[in-house]
Amino acid sequence: MTATTFVNGRVFTGESETAFASAFRIVDGLVDWVGEAADVHDTDAVDLGGRTVLPGLIDSHTHPALLAGTAVAVECFPPAVRSVDDLVAVLRSHAATVTAADGWVLGRGFDDTKFPGGAMPTAADLDRVSTDRPVLVWRCDAHSAVCNTVALEVAGISATTPDPEGARFERDADGCPNGILTEIAAVDAVAAFIPAPSRDEQVDAIVAIGDELASRGIVAVCDLLSSRIDRPLDTFRAAAERGLRTRVALYPGWDPAAPLDDLGPDDRDGPIRVAGVKVVLDGAYSNRTAWVHEAYPGSCDHGLRLVDDDDVLAAGEWARRNGVQLAVHAMGDRALDRVVELFEGQEPWLDGIPSVRIEHATIVSDAYLARLRAARMRFGIATHTVFFFAEYDGYEKALRVEQVPDAYPIARLYAGLDPLALSSDRPATAWSGADDVMLSVEAAVRRRTYNDVEFGPEASITVPQALLLYTSRAARLSPLEGVGRLAPGLDGSFAVLDRDVFSVPDDEISAVRVVETWIRGERVYRRAQA
Ligand SMILES: [Zn+2]
Repeated sequence: MTATTFVNGRVFTGESETAFASAFRIVDGLVDWVGEAADVHDTDAVDLGGRTVLPGLIDSHTHPALLAGTAVAVECFPPAVRSVDDLVAVLRSHAATVTAADGWVLGRGFDDTKFPGGAMPTAADLDRVSTDRPVLVWRCDAHSAVCNTVALEVAGISATTPDPEGARFERDADGCPNGILTEIAAVDAVAAFIPAPSRDEQVDAIVAIGDELASRGIVAVCDLLSSRIDRPLDTFRAAAERGLRTRVALYPGWDPAAPLDDLGPDDRDGPIRVAGVKVVLDGAYSNRTAWVHEAYPGSCDHGLRLVDDDDVLAAGEWARRNGVQLAVHAMGDRALDRVVELFEGQEPWLDGIPSVRIEHATIVSDAYLARLRAARMRFGIATHTVFFFAEYDGYEKALRVEQVPDAYPIARLYAGLDPLALSSDRPATAWSGADDVMLSVEAAVRRRTYNDVEFGPEASITVPQALLLYTSRAARLSPLEGVGRLAPGLDGSFAVLDRDVFSVPDDEISAVRVVETWIRGERVYRRAQA
């Protein structure tokens, strides 16, 4: 038996907004006792030095498999990349490191809404990176990309190629593809030609992502896969054998053309498990492809609906039959309404957690939340305050004026629906370090954007409230076990902070750093001294 007692901490237990302790004990990886340091007489106890401790954090909507499958892509996120010229420069210097003569030059994360004039890069721009090698860079929302002329040729996309269903090859005036690939089916038509990393490289990349997550205090994630690595469950389990300590809930994507196999007996159990299936109902507000009732300002465009009702229902049937969740990407108000219409009358198929998760949920009224609560179905929501922080420019153009302060209404969501989580959606958020939990907490508390614009401050919540959305409330959104609170019987997983996030000034929350992360009684991360 290994027992370690920790004393003299300011320990947020995750039980409630006001539940703090000062000591706890971990026995064989699990929390055994939580209480007050005055009751501890163990002379070997670890002194936390008065530091603030949080339960191990949960990122309820992120994409480690997508990162692992494209680990060779260079980061092109703001604030480093703020123009087409910046983008070309970053890709050019990255190209110099790609040694294979015909190797793809890949990047991710550019946000054209932050470029002067909002100019979207095209193949002509990326031809400045290379005219003999394929170049592709994903937009920050990961739903769109731009590629160069060679990449279009490799993929066989020309003026006569029809658009894929629910997606577009953007074209110039005479119909020639201009390199802009709008929505996933168009991106995939080119990305399918990128050589996949070897299985070994994928496994190593996942282990490295686990280390990065630990540096954020994150001990459990839901992977809402939107790009497939080989056999995700086996690959993540292989990574666990190689040292990944993160708990992972996988949500493979629903593809109407290639239905998923039913799950095997142990696929839903253990620290790495299949937790659901994900269907993408619409696009994203930041590029005006979310499916909306009222047309986007200055247009008659209602965004994109990516799959029809039958597909959403078929994904739901698969989830019901396999005893896992259905996760529906729905951003636009019309997509959100459709999710409820399709499922509100159905019998929930899971106990304790929502059978249907709604991902993103940008525009949510009180009436909508009341409808979710009144439904026979049990719903939950994963949302992101980091979206408006990072992508304000896109939202400002896509939302009607009165909608701006009311987007991602986190106070209303907090009060209105219990299974609720804040999350990063990394790398589909236009900011480097989007998985920094403290950045997201500050955005929820201050409701300000990266360029210091107020974004509906009346919708703000407090630090303890925001942290519950990374701990116990998040734990009630998915079947991740053992995480979310520091309580007897749960994992001895926690993060130690360098400053007290509960008492720093609001505008210093995002500067708070994780100094140590422990997973099941073992220290897995320690911040290097500055
Ligand atoms: Zn996502």
